Amino acid sequence: MKIALCIKQVPDTTDIKWTEHNTIQREGVESVINPYDTYAAELALNLKSQIEGSHITVFTMGPTQAESMLRKTMALGCDSAVLISDKKFAGSDTYATGLTISRAIRTVMPDFDLIVCGQFAVDGDTAQTGPAIANFLDIPQVTYVKDCIDCSDKNLTLTRELEDGIETVKVSTPALICVMKQDFETCRAKINGIISAAKKPVRICTMEDIGLTPEKTGIKGSPTYVSKAFRNVSTHNAKKYKMNTADSVQLLRETIEKHSGGCDE
Ligand code: FAD
Repeated sequence: MKIALCIKQVPDTTDIKWTEHNTIQREGVESVINPYDTYAAELALNLKSQIEGSHITVFTMGPTQAESMLRKTMALGCDSAVLISDKKFAGSDTYATGLTISRAIRTVMPDFDLIVCGQFAVDGDTAQTGPAIANFLDIPQVTYVKDCIDCSDKNLTLTRELEDGIETVKVSTPALICVMKQDFETCRAKINGIISAAKKPVRICTMEDIGLTPEKTGIKGSPTYVSKAFRNVSTHNAKKYKMNTADSVQLLRETIEKHSGGCDE
């Protein structure tokens, strides 16, 4: 199975700061692999271990320093890496990002079977990039993926984590999946993996390499713009308690009584 894994570099902070142009400030902030993408990588590596002859190429669209993140992912067992990087990509919104990544995959890996993305990037948090890539490549997509319970080159049986339960779906390849975060810790690179990843080449794809023009990517190729960015301040007087079940039932009862003058159940 030929797998394209998409990973994004995100700031290693919950305190996101904004530039004067309403884009996320990345300078002077440590970067890490988007947490959802570490689970996407884990799922891709599991598939590789189950389907003989599989190959994982990891893609990221970002500045040149994102190369170190690609090497970290190769150290886990991914086979090759592509850095989609060009100053002309700056200012891309999710539409332009989806188009650019889809073009890079089609250029480097036209015979891919599966594209694996994270469900969300913790900085932008739109969850639009995976579906946009699938749309531009005209392939089926499965979002909110929790696990793959059966796989072959041609079909995957996946579980999806939904608000009201777990759904099982079957999809035929080529397809794109967006993977949720899980409760377990993802695997860490071993020293041999780190040494071999350091020696592997990283292919750079520029705008010309993937056949795009400035009208299709970057600021000009982005139909949306951020007019205002602000931190949401809760107006609710919410409180968080840590207590056992009996105490929490009592507290709930007292609170309902206080606000409604009594409760039946
Ligand atoms: P999501 O859609 O939530 O990510 C889901 C998954 O898609 C990830 O888990 C990952 O698997 C994959 N993915 C997402 N992004 C990438 C990537 N870059 N490479 C590989 N895989 C990826 N951001 C900037 O850094 N610089 C800018 O100048 C900039 N300008 C912008 C201008 C506008 C008008 C807008 C609307 C956004 C801009 N952004 C910019 C944000 C940028 O568009 C998003 O970061 C990007 O499209 C990904 O969206 P997201 O963060 O919501 O990811």
